Amino acid sequence: MYDYLIIGHGLAGAVLSQKLLEREQKIMVLDQPDHNHSSVVAAGIFNPITGRKMFKTWRADQFFPELTSFYPELETKLEAAFYYPIGVYRPYFAIEDQNDWEAKKSDAKFDAYIAQTTTSNISAHQLHDPHGGLFLKQAGYVNIVELLNANKKYLIDKGSYRETMFYEKDLKCNTDHFSFGDLKFKKIIFCNGIHAHKSEWFQWLPFHPVKGEMIDIELKKRPETIYNRGVFMLPFAGGHIRVGSTYHHHFDDMQPTETGQNELKEKLSGLLKEQYEIKGSRAGIRPATKDRRPFIGKHPDNEHIYVFNGFGSKGVSLIPNCSKLFTAYLLDGEALDAEVDVSRYYSHYPIQQKN
Ligand SMILES: Cc1cc2nc3c(=O)[nH]c(=O)nc-3n(C[C@H](O)[C@H](O)[C@H](O)COP(=O)(O)OP(=O)(O)OC[C@H]3O[C@@H](n4cnc5c(N)ncnc54)[C@H](O)[C@@H]3O)c2cc1C
Repeated sequence: MYDYLIIGHGLAGAVLSQKLLEREQKIMVLDQPDHNHSSVVAAGIFNPITGRKMFKTWRADQFFPELTSFYPELETKLEAAFYYPIGVYRPYFAIEDQNDWEAKKSDAKFDAYIAQTTTSNISAHQLHDPHGGLFLKQAGYVNIVELLNANKKYLIDKGSYRETMFYEKDLKCNTDHFSFGDLKFKKIIFCNGIHAHKSEWFQWLPFHPVKGEMIDIELKKRPETIYNRGVFMLPFAGGHIRVGSTYHHHFDDMQPTETGQNELKEKLSGLLKEQYEIKGSRAGIRPATKDRRPFIGKHPDNEHIYVFNGFGSKGVSLIPNCSKLFTAYLLDGEALDAEVDVSRYYSHYPIQQKN
């Protein structure tokens, strides 16, 4: 009998599987990789200062120290390379930003994230950055596909992974356990990304899927860090430079579009001066939520059914700390943070489904 059945091996299911194994839980992860529309597409960037106004991202002081130790430790454990803390360079939009950030850089609130500032351009022939910019630390990217491949191998070696589709209609709820085919387990955790909004158990949650598109480009000179203003340019190790992303709430399919590509080219022209060649494009759907906070916790009607989802566009930075808190909730009875606890939406659970 397994302690936990985890549905989905995207970044959420993969990281959670490690946390539960560390606590000696017997787990089985089911995944149908062809149906992954987010983790395998994502750029994997973690960046503590985001948005046009360059605000510190939500709970950065809680999430960033955790992720910067978690991923390198996981690399060692899985004997794989996927963590690239190469930093982010954020060119200023206007001259006023210089004064603003010269003052902020000695502020203890930002100290941990600012490596350096510059008031002159760093690459006059390549970038539009006449006012200089900000070099961020505790920033970089995770090659999520490499992480998932290494984690899958690790789980297979432990007999804890099956590549198969989970069908809810085939889940049997018995008095003291569940069963699905030949598998028997005490609890089930849905880490099924955007598929949750079609799920019988969690479709009542206010998911807000957001389509994102990216292009891969080739440049004469590769940047050594991530550039980010309006769009990001990510020099993917051993690959092209990834440029992204778009944010679209209304979409018909998961394919890259000409409109998306044009939007990226337009934004890129505000950052990059140099000629480039487009080598490819990709698109995916972020499992985002209406209030932009994850959905973590227990189903309102069944205390053995859980959700760990809704990481939107920030899975890389949120998932390590959230999986640690969720594991403490599951195994030590610690309370979940009210901002991520799915119980904040119990009032959305349809009456007719109760019981
Ligand atoms: C274009 C784009 C760019 C992004 N860039 C970044 C970025 O730079 N930084 C960042 O932090 N985040 C980024 N993200 C977001 C990031 O991808 C997500 O936050 C994170 O990967 C979500 O992981 P997940 O495991 O919750 O979901 P998913 O990756 O969607 O994984 C869910 C898994 O469950 C499986 N599954 C679902 N239902 C079933 C079933 N019934 N049976 C079996 N398996 C099932 C799916 O096949 C899938 O493998 C980006 C996303 C997109 C689309």
